[in-house]
Amino acid sequence: MNAPHSPHVGTPPLSRRAEALGTENAFVVLAEVNALLRDGKDIVSFCIGQPDFPTPPNVQDAAIAAIRAGRHGYTPSAGIEELRVAVAGDMGARRGLAIEPDEIVVGAGAKPFIAYAIASVTDYGVGDEVIYPVPGFPIYESQIVANGAVPVPIYLREARDFAFDPAELEAAITPQTRLLILNTPHNPTGGILRAQDLDAIAAILARHPHVWVYADEIYSRLAYDGAFESIASRPGMRERTIISDGASKTWAMTGWRIGWCANRALAPLFTRWITNTDSCASQISQWAALEAVCGPQDMAEAMRMKFRERRDLIVKLLNKVPGVTCRTPGGAFYAWPNVTEACALTGCADSEAFRKRLLHEAGIAVLADIHFGRRVPGDGQHIRFSYATSNDAIEEGVVRLAEFIAVASRR
Ligand code: PMP
Repeated sequence: MNAPHSPHVGTPPLSRRAEALGTENAFVVLAEVNALLRDGKDIVSFCIGQPDFPTPPNVQDAAIAAIRAGRHGYTPSAGIEELRVAVAGDMGARRGLAIEPDEIVVGAGAKPFIAYAIASVTDYGVGDEVIYPVPGFPIYESQIVANGAVPVPIYLREARDFAFDPAELEAAITPQTRLLILNTPHNPTGGILRAQDLDAIAAILARHPHVWVYADEIYSRLAYDGAFESIASRPGMRERTIISDGASKTWAMTGWRIGWCANRALAPLFTRWITNTDSCASQISQWAALEAVCGPQDMAEAMRMKFRERRDLIVKLLNKVPGVTCRTPGGAFYAWPNVTEACALTGCADSEAFRKRLLHEAGIAVLADIHFGRRVPGDGQHIRFSYATSNDAIEEGVVRLAEFIAVASRR
């Protein structure tokens, strides 16, 4: 391990933890895209992982009413009781579980719970292992490493519609494994853990009772083919599973920063982490989230239907492009086409070179697989389209992609 170094001449050194802290490269690409847009470039963007709809008006009104009613001070660190009760009921009903309000902790988004969970079940530098999906949300690996645990990737393969092979999970578990992170529906592939996958995972974990599970279910309401299922509903999984969900994706509330977690044993610890960091989530946003959970669901459902329509559109269009193939993702709002052949046709060394040329030569902004972790051995090159954008943008973007490949392959 390298000695910690100073960021600037004359400043004291930084911690190993700080130096190990990763990031979401999506934000780096986004900055690049924004700079091009500022220069007047015409770019169709598929970069951003957030709904392109406004927060439903009833939810906006609830926030304004909270401000006017003076409900804008600190709240208990675990969140206002009304929201914990509502979330417990809603989260439980959607998963066929009886969840009690005191199992629920409300935070400033679902994201902070990733760090709280890892920090709560692993120790620094002692070889504690965390198994996590690759490709995957980059914060998993970043927080595993920053917390001094050992990242153990489990590969999601195209041949399995981006679920992992349960045999690979079994092989990855050791006596040092502390936590398994699952994410369904999945960012970046849109893949889903199907009933038989969940059965297989639960059967494996039954043989390894020392492993916690972090079920990142932030896209649970954006599952398109059949009902959403949680690992927590499988026999023996309830108490050891940390269920994570939130307001960001379901009600187009990313900037409101409200997420939640359920686990009886860890709820008091998560509450204490929040007392140590944020104190509480924004009270105004909590009242808004209460309206989101308990109010009419027609807008959430309309957004879901719109995403499904766009999914069908983008998958159909991408599969018509020579050199590109795309599986039908079961949820979230991401398509993860295989562009191995397109890279070969256009003389791009890999998906990242392809992504850069798409941005600069074709005016399409996407992310590359390397923004979501190390490459899956033998699974080729992929790029991510977030289809949280209009049908027109989807059509225009895919036309540009096809034209770029056609022109670049003739050179
Ligand atoms: N998990 C996954 C897989 C995500 O994609 C995101 C958002 N991009 C989050 C968690 C965090 O969501 P938030 O903090 O907005 O609730």
